[in-house]
Amino acid sequence: MAKITREEALLYHSSGKPGKIEVVPTKPYSSQRDLSLAYSPGVAEPCLEIEKDADKAYEYTSKGNLVAVISNGTSVLGLGDIGAMAGKPVMEGKGLLFKIFAGIDVFDIEIDEKDPQKFIEIVKAIAPTFGGINLEDVKAPECFEIEERLKSELSIPIMHDDQHGTAIISGAGLLNALELTNKKIEEVKIVINGAGAAAVSCTNLYISLGAKRENIVMVDSKGVISVYRNDLNSRKKPFATERNMTTLEEAVIGADVFLGLSVANVLTKEMVRSMNDYPIVFALANPDPEITYEEAMEARKDIIFATGRSDYPNQINNVLGFPYIFRGALDARATCINEEMKLAAVNAIAELTKKAVPDVVNAAYELKSLCFGPEYIIPKPLDPRLLTSVSPAVAKAAMDSGVARKQITDWEGYELYLRK
Ligand code: NAP
Ligand code: MG
Repeated sequence: MAKITREEALLYHSSGKPGKIEVVPTKPYSSQRDLSLAYSPGVAEPCLEIEKDADKAYEYTSKGNLVAVISNGTSVLGLGDIGAMAGKPVMEGKGLLFKIFAGIDVFDIEIDEKDPQKFIEIVKAIAPTFGGINLEDVKAPECFEIEERLKSELSIPIMHDDQHGTAIISGAGLLNALELTNKKIEEVKIVINGAGAAAVSCTNLYISLGAKRENIVMVDSKGVISVYRNDLNSRKKPFATERNMTTLEEAVIGADVFLGLSVANVLTKEMVRSMNDYPIVFALANPDPEITYEEAMEARKDIIFATGRSDYPNQINNVLGFPYIFRGALDARATCINEEMKLAAVNAIAELTKKAVPDVVNAAYELKSLCFGPEYIIPKPLDPRLLTSVSPAVAKAAMDSGVARKQITDWEGYELYLRK
């Protein structure tokens, strides 16, 4: 993929109408009668219906297909705390992706508030507008409490995508990489480099998938998180190892899996060489991974390697998940996005990778014959089958786990509706 220049990026955003999304009316509006229906006096009727029964908002307003992408700009991409307004292009971008991949409308909401309690109150107060909430680029550790509180106090799907989206996509990649290397998740030794928003959520999901806590070593900017440290916050403590080691270098010796959600260039070729046979290395720091693709390939021939980058094989990209997870959750009118729904998404994404890849996908990437293997452990973002694979799986998991307020019975019909 050719490199994008600063000028190209700025021109893309400023040309035509500034920004990337707009609001489009969905009802006729050309006559006086249309306007009387759309606004006063006709609009009073649906208002009164909703006043009597809040669920009617799903029938008479856009709520059911409207997701808020909400950020306070404290951890934007790899840019850090750039503030609410400066994060707006990212949130609009997310709106664009929700729309093109899953037909979901988005209001991007940039909230200039860093205090978690006040942030929670603001989000709660605006929640009636939305069918779901995607929290985005809120920094750790505040993001954990913010998401937990909002999930417990609101009854719509809420997901902090930097945590769970990453966990779901990398979890799918991990299952496939383990299958290719004939390793069992219950047995593999895993090193997690990073202990922030993404790393903690990934680790929890891998444990849900079967990984053993005692086989996991987590490393933060100060070294291995172990019981011998006395500077650990409550989010890190559950992962403290009893093994007496302090450095990443020691931790990776003999490990089967390295998951990097930290910073660039901290994993050396020598460290990769010290790992077990057929090592799985996900170097996900953006934009520059913990070890470059070239170095990783030089280090070992038996490696399965993934990054967050689109210019190399195996891109672990959240866009494989969030549009479809929210689509399924909205369509089942789920009250939350629970563990069952996340695991259903993991499995659907992992399974899709193993199916024959249609020509449209090969063509979109100018490739000839993508097929399940070390260089294709995860679907490509432009694969149209993601929608019809992931969303029904998530909707079904919502129903099976008892959090759906709407039951889908005609699954073929649902798939046709998704394709439209
Ligand atoms: P975060 O919450 O700020 O966490 C960063 C973590 O990295 C912190 O725990 C920090 O340690 C740790 N860290 C910093 N330097 C380190 C070092 N030298 N060795 C080990 N750990 C180190 O950020 P995040 O949202 O989790 O994201 C982390 C990285 O993953 C970013 O580069 C982000 O772009 C990337 N990411 C990629 C994807 C993807 O590819 N799909 C998805 C999400 C995130 P302390 O706790 O000691 O400060
Ligand atoms: Mg993000």
